Amino acid sequence: MQVTIDGRTASVTPETTVLEAARSVGIKIPSLCYHPKTGKAGRCRACVVEIDGMRGLQVSCATAVRDGMSIHTRTETVLAARKMVVELLLADGAHNCLACEKNGGCELQDMAYDLGIEAPAFIIEDRAAENDASSEMIVIDRRKCIECGRCVSACQNVVVNEVLSMAHRGAQTQIVCDADRPMADSTCVQCGECSQLCPVGAILPKKSIGQGRPWALEMVDTTCPYCGVGCQVTLHVDKAANKIVKVTGREVEPNDGMLCVKGRYGYEFPSSPNRLTQPLMLKNGEHVPVTWDEALDFVADRIKTIVAASGPDVFSAFGSGRITNENNYAIAKFARAVVKTNNVDHCART
Ligand code: SF4
Ligand code: SF4
Ligand code: SF4
Repeated sequence: MQVTIDGRTASVTPETTVLEAARSVGIKIPSLCYHPKTGKAGRCRACVVEIDGMRGLQVSCATAVRDGMSIHTRTETVLAARKMVVELLLADGAHNCLACEKNGGCELQDMAYDLGIEAPAFIIEDRAAENDASSEMIVIDRRKCIECGRCVSACQNVVVNEVLSMAHRGAQTQIVCDADRPMADSTCVQCGECSQLCPVGAILPKKSIGQGRPWALEMVDTTCPYCGVGCQVTLHVDKAANKIVKVTGREVEPNDGMLCVKGRYGYEFPSSPNRLTQPLMLKNGEHVPVTWDEALDFVADRIKTIVAASGPDVFSAFGSGRITNENNYAIAKFARAVVKTNNVDHCART
């Protein structure tokens, strides 16, 4: 079926939402609660649009397309409604962008910029919500929470850890871990999916706070080095300090943005002063730095001597999920073609 959005035609299937149809033709409708991974929520009303023949504004993330629909995403009425949504959200929280870790990567801030909002138009009494910095890796700043529900859906339905939920009512509504426990005492496994999907600065990775603004960091897409799954990650690199300050999952195969704790937080080793930069050999009971030539010659001599004395099957080669397929192939080839044994195995085999 076909729909028209701001004069552009989109060919879509019946289960497509108006928001998805617009994005499929490059028209950006903002959404604070909807995310492709957590699905439609219809909670924040930032994505309202006008549709010919329908009364009032429609929530585009929760409205299915119909053949021949004519949709308008930036009319005066739409923009006024969006502005009201953003002004209320900005007023109902401690949104001091200058001091906020999310500055430059915040979807609420982006909306305020797009709508030309300089300051909240309302004054709302501070909710005095309590923050939670109890956990080792994640900080919850509830005063910045806009109650979009993305983190709850991410924890409940995406990673299925079922830790986060919304508790209390009305102005007291807030996200909680388990039965309102500190995060450190909850069943949270620190996977960080909630912090990755939070549109504002309400759930943050603790180690990255104060380590650099998004525009000052270089983003490098690569593969996680920890195991054979090969999760796709983006390294946030402080080039001046030559160190990684944050890792986020890329929303592509095979991990669709999700990471384990090693992949998400174990990023200090490349710039660790304890990292080995040359081989060490045990000499007179001490590990002594040597050249690669000396180390490789020693290993080659030992393999030759042992295989000559006891035959090739005393030798076995182990590959690893932490190296490339090409490296693993070379290990197997070396064992079979050079040493002449089929004793080849891999750490990922159980
Ligand atoms: S969460 Fe966003 S809007 Fe709020 S202070 Fe931080 S950057 Fe600004
Ligand atoms: S870190 Fe993972 S387990 Fe913990 S609350 Fe967030 S999504 Fe749930
Ligand atoms: S913590 Fe973030 S993702 Fe969770 S409800 Fe609040 S604003 Fe939304």
